[in-house]
Amino acid sequence: MILAAHPVTGTGRLRRVLVANRGEIALRVLRACRELGLETVIVHSEADADSLPVRLADRAVCIGPARSNQSYLNAEFIVSAALIHHADAIHPGYGFLSENADFARLCEMEKIVFVGPKADVISQMGDKVRARQLAAEAGVPTTPGSAGKLRDAAEAAQLAAQIGYPVLLKAAAGGGGRGMRVVREACELADQFADAAREAKAAFGDDAIYVEKYLTNIRHIEIQVLSDGDTVLHLGERDCSIQRRNQKLLEETPSPVLDAAVRARMCAAAVKLCRHVGYTSAGTIEFILDAASGEFYFMEMNTRIQVEHPVTEMVSGIDLVKAQLEIAGGKPLAIAQDEIRFDGHAIECRINAEDSERDFAPCPGAITRYYAPGGPGIRVDSHIHAGYTVPPYYDSLLAKVVSWGRNRSEAIARMRRALNEMEVDGIKTTIPFHLGLLQHPNFVAGDVHTRFVENELLGARA
Ligand code: ADP
Ligand code: ADP
Ligand code: MG
Repeated sequence: MILAAHPVTGTGRLRRVLVANRGEIALRVLRACRELGLETVIVHSEADADSLPVRLADRAVCIGPARSNQSYLNAEFIVSAALIHHADAIHPGYGFLSENADFARLCEMEKIVFVGPKADVISQMGDKVRARQLAAEAGVPTTPGSAGKLRDAAEAAQLAAQIGYPVLLKAAAGGGGRGMRVVREACELADQFADAAREAKAAFGDDAIYVEKYLTNIRHIEIQVLSDGDTVLHLGERDCSIQRRNQKLLEETPSPVLDAAVRARMCAAAVKLCRHVGYTSAGTIEFILDAASGEFYFMEMNTRIQVEHPVTEMVSGIDLVKAQLEIAGGKPLAIAQDEIRFDGHAIECRINAEDSERDFAPCPGAITRYYAPGGPGIRVDSHIHAGYTVPPYYDSLLAKVVSWGRNRSEAIARMRRALNEMEVDGIKTTIPFHLGLLQHPNFVAGDVHTRFVENELLGARA
């Protein structure tokens, strides 16, 4: 056990942070804590006992068996571990309890700092229907659709007839691309409504559904924000249009299609919404962009650090996780909007333990050999190593390979070079998918939309 010998620098009242997550994001948080001179405690499941983050934390506490609902989702055990080990704060990472308002409330009650926004803000923004209402109140455009949750399929049908097909049924508590159904014709609506509600109930314990106009030929553009409750900053956009089944596979910044005027309007809208809800910490406002018209619509807010945050760090030079910890420790932001400079272009490829040649089938198992890429402009955020066994119980994310270049073409060239160097033997990964994508003429030209992967890239192959 290595306890930090140095006094705390730059994080106000925090001294020891509990990391309530696993995998690459747990490692990312530990690294930020170490750089800030903060001591660390990590909680983990039995399946992760030998993992790199568990080895690197100052202290580790096993809180239960592999299944997340008995470990990483057990709020009481995690808070107890924080109390027993005298942690002043809990960083939830992404996924798991990161957007769980009850967990944040429990932390608040126990006088443990939850590294994120206030519990009330999480619960408001976590309800995607309420979030749409708040966006509208703040004067931020939203996709045409429900003002509230739908009572039943009949109400959905009535609204769909008004806004026009196709429509998208979405889970009010949704996340991770789940609980969504495209409905192309009125006759499909009742069945799809029942399906969406069932999936939402199983995934989120809440079957509330709302409806939006289903837009096509759109891009997913999101704005990173950072707030100490007083100063609200934006850190530009990320273009996350490369998706499969509404899940992101590759993200980049700046967006190849956003012009300065639309960017300015979108960033201003994000900041306005944050002010309206009293947001603190790092957060992301997701928008749909109709690139042809320049119109954009609020989709949702993620009240946590996001998987793709490194691309923003690469171009802005701001460490978002350290900023979250500093804000949580009561330290005001020491930078003003006009001091933030965006330099060059960054791309992130999510390397998952999935066989991209067999319909992205999950591929857990033992990694026999691992060679991480490096060299100029390459950052790898990963918890894997040779001899590591990828457990079957969790998210399939193995590594995030991030490239930086002075411009987009240099960032693409570096990413290709890096992924050709990278070796993960023993299991299948999404590296071949990314190599194919990175040489596709439409991707190279920046000419993609949110269905490009499914309809054009993979569709063409089948
Ligand atoms: P990001 O934009 O950060 O990639 P995602 O929506 O892809 O956001 O989610 C990131 C991670 O969090 C994924 O592991 C996803 O499965 C998980 N996740 C997101 N929302 C939820 C939720 N409501 N419940 C459980 N897990 C979620
Ligand atoms: P989640 O909470 O699961 O992340 P989002 O509301 O962010 O759900 O939507 C996930 C993805 O689904 C978006 O990135 C986008 O590609 C697609 N999507 C969401 N809303 C619409 C819509 N109204 N029309 C078309 N595509 C949409
Ligand atoms: Mg989303």
